[in-house]
Amino acid sequence: MHELGVVFHIIEQVDEIAEENKVKRVAEVTLEIGEVSSIVPHYMTECWDWAVLHRSKHMKGCKLNLIQVKATSYCESCKKTYPTVPHGRTCPYCGSGETYLISGNETEIKEIKVED
Ligand SMILES: [Zn+2]
Repeated sequence: MHELGVVFHIIEQVDEIAEENKVKRVAEVTLEIGEVSSIVPHYMTECWDWAVLHRSKHMKGCKLNLIQVKATSYCESCKKTYPTVPHGRTCPYCGSGETYLISGNETEIKEIKVED
């Protein structure tokens, strides 16, 4: 499962940040998930609950919040941006296929809340 690898990676990062800042316990982590990132939020939460218990140092029982980020593409031909999901790789303004994704594929830590 793809999500488990992502979760492990995030937990590693957050644990490191907690250590650097001498935080005992992280209470909440908010992640931005791109609309086309292939992450299934429901799997993500399941993996998370297991992984924070077994694989983290400072994150036992840590809550996960997910924010979905809309996917946006950029058209090389007419220099416009458009929402990726309804139009795919074809620009809705000029019909060009010279387009690429500029956001919507990320999995990023947006916020970390610590227990005080
Ligand atoms: Zn275009």
